[in-house]
Amino acid sequence: MNFPTTYSHIIERIKNINPKTYARTRNHLEGDVSFLSPYLTRGIITLPQVRDIVLEKFSKKEAEKFIQELAWREYFQKVYREKGDEIFNDLRFEQPAVNVRGEIPESIIQAETGITIIDESIKQLYESGYMHNHARMWASSISSNIAHCHWWIPSKWMYYHLLDGDLASNSLSWQWVCGAFASKQYVAHQELMNTCSPIHQSQTGTFMDMPRENLLDMDLPEILEKTIEPELPVFLPKGDTGTLNNKDLILFHPWNLDPNYHTDGDVQKVLIIEPSHFKKFPVSEKVMNFIVDLARDNIEGIQMYVGEQSELIKNFDGKIYYQYHKNVEHWQGAKELQDELFPEVQGYYKNFFSFWKKCQKFI
Ligand SMILES: Cc1cc2nc3c(=O)[nH]c(=O)nc-3n(C[C@H](O)[C@H](O)[C@H](O)COP(=O)(O)OP(=O)(O)OC[C@H]3O[C@@H](n4cnc5c(N)ncnc54)[C@H](O)[C@@H]3O)c2cc1C
Repeated sequence: MNFPTTYSHIIERIKNINPKTYARTRNHLEGDVSFLSPYLTRGIITLPQVRDIVLEKFSKKEAEKFIQELAWREYFQKVYREKGDEIFNDLRFEQPAVNVRGEIPESIIQAETGITIIDESIKQLYESGYMHNHARMWASSISSNIAHCHWWIPSKWMYYHLLDGDLASNSLSWQWVCGAFASKQYVAHQELMNTCSPIHQSQTGTFMDMPRENLLDMDLPEILEKTIEPELPVFLPKGDTGTLNNKDLILFHPWNLDPNYHTDGDVQKVLIIEPSHFKKFPVSEKVMNFIVDLARDNIEGIQMYVGEQSELIKNFDGKIYYQYHKNVEHWQGAKELQDELFPEVQGYYKNFFSFWKKCQKFI
């Protein structure tokens, strides 16, 4: 799969979604998923925009499963908004049976677990910046539930490589898998993985080839014994501005790269990459280049500032506008809200399905 950075290609990708085949095949590694998450995470498109384009061709009934998946994203954003940095620790329950902190099995990092479907998915993650949802769940389950590593550092490793790396979806999904944000752990086994990919159907005899109920209690497989701290070097691009004129200032960030944001008027547009954020939550060079390309290819007249917002605006007297995101909560200026799928449903819900129950009547 590839991830073009021009807006017309991205809109074309939305128009090609078929929610009927999506609902039927999405659990398969080769299924008809949308590959939209890198664009949604970067805010070049929005959830309501995707829903509305899909509903131009399909009925609400046909699109319901797809909309429900979109709602998972909104749910996680809303949990992050309510809970803030608490999502970077075990949120609801302590992760059970942790033996290792700050490390991840080396065989996962090296894509050498011996489970073909996992190893190929990890190699694909390094090459493309994308991993299928189920492969993410399996890799996470092996690391947290079988190798007994605490989820935080392994989640940072995955986040580092994902073009769609999103602190809320990533941290909360890892916690969902390991039982820190759900009342039980998610455990995959070989047979289940095989049914999700006809290409890999035949693998047997791996350390995951046993009934689900035995997996949580088994001895640590030798291949998972060696754990290491992943190397996640910080990559920052070069900025091209540090000076402002006195026109209104429209600020973009890596979570709002919408080319339709403030298109009217004589304004100056600046994408800010804040080093303090990326030092705390590093992303790969591939991910950073993707962010920069999305901005440069689509936002007319955009300049890029690599530094803190407070520094850029310290002598600026004009008006400042930016779109709210939890990651830029500390910014100054007029914050504007991104469109939501379900603006009627606000607040913290302990689990997705209690949130979804409230949302359903507003589809
Ligand atoms: C361990 C783990 C880590 C994850 N980390 C991230 C992450 O960093 N960023 C991220 O965007 N998603 C993350 N997800 C959720 C999910 O895997 C991806 O959103 C999905 O695979 C993206 O592919 P797609 O666009 O083809 O999805 P599709 O299946 O086509 O779904 C359409 C859209 O719905 C949303 N969506 C679908 N499923 C989920 C889900 N389970 N949770 C949240 N949103 C969902 C996404 O925005 C996605 O683009 C993670 C899941 C797991 C299990």
